[in-house]
Amino acid sequence: MSIKCSLCPGICQEILDLGEQNLANNLSNNQSEIYSTFKLSLVICENCGIQQLDGIVDPTIMFQNYLWVTGTSETTLSYLERLALFCNNYKGVNARVLEIASNDGSFLECMLKQGWSVKGVDPARNIADLANNKGIETIPSFFGSTYLDKYPAEIGSYDLVVARNVLPHAPNIREILTSVRKLLGADGKLLAEFHDANQLYDDGQIDYIYHEHKYYFTYNSFVNLAAEHGYRVTDYKRSPISAGSHVIVFEKADDIGELKKVGLVELARYANGGLQKVRDQFTHSVKKIIDSHEGNIIGFGASARASTLLNLLDDDSAKKIQVMLDNSTHKSGFYFSRHRILIEKPESIFSLDKDFVVLVFAWNFFNEIEKQLIESGVQPSRIINIKKFLY
Ligand SMILES: [Zn+2]
Repeated sequence: MSIKCSLCPGICQEILDLGEQNLANNLSNNQSEIYSTFKLSLVICENCGIQQLDGIVDPTIMFQNYLWVTGTSETTLSYLERLALFCNNYKGVNARVLEIASNDGSFLECMLKQGWSVKGVDPARNIADLANNKGIETIPSFFGSTYLDKYPAEIGSYDLVVARNVLPHAPNIREILTSVRKLLGADGKLLAEFHDANQLYDDGQIDYIYHEHKYYFTYNSFVNLAAEHGYRVTDYKRSPISAGSHVIVFEKADDIGELKKVGLVELARYANGGLQKVRDQFTHSVKKIIDSHEGNIIGFGASARASTLLNLLDDDSAKKIQVMLDNSTHKSGFYFSRHRILIEKPESIFSLDKDFVVLVFAWNFFNEIEKQLIESGVQPSRIINIKKFLY
């Protein structure tokens, strides 16, 4: 059966099947609640080269009770401050910035400190409330053409629109790119930040794949898509976010010229079944580790990435993980993944016998977490970075 690309008339090929999985970030505090599961399969378009999930889950199910808050990690916060300084290069006379999917307003707070007039849009009402309570004006809504209908006075008024780690989530990405262009002033810029899809294969990051991320862009596949909507690259930098992202600044352009054909080039990278090998190696090695420390193993980092990985494990192995520690106070007391492992604050391990092994699932924050665990008395030899099984 051929799978149609959701962004162009091309046909897609499957490159990774991750089975049936629950939604990574919708946690429940009821242990007996059975999470709905949905197919999680990555495909790539032979024409535009864009990687995407086969199928789509209704965004209102995924994002309205979202528990992920930007401002939880110190590493992230210091990055956001540096990014705000970079954005000053694009400050026009109005110094107005709009952020799409602004989460708890952490980035806009940094922009405010740099003298920008800020506004955010975020669909998760609970998180938009957090931002509004901090004085960062945030509209609790999805972004698209209806935003322009609601706020017509903002058309042509922004120096900068920021879309950090949101475009891969958006089934209506074409509508977003079109709407943003209308909001920008004559010299206005779009700053798009997104995970580099080459990391899925080059760095074994299959845990970046979950239902919220509909699309997985490389630099080339994204620049082509933006060009179709009248954008041209004006600046670029690498970002450490999500363990390897692109930050691309676009300006408006009327004449884009001819686009590079990237579909077959991108497809060729996956011809040898490399992503399936990453998945199989991971499940085999982690099962071995868990089984060898039976009854004595805990996880750290109840992230969406961890959800994808845990869901790859069979019930018997996953249930040997006694608890999932996480620094986010919002997640404590909830049950995680289809195996429903209880999430607790790291303090809860202080009362336990220190004879356990900690499997750090949030490997992109490993240094911070390792330091925290050692300070609370865990022997370094008992801390295992899950990343060594993903390559
Ligand atoms: Zn396509």
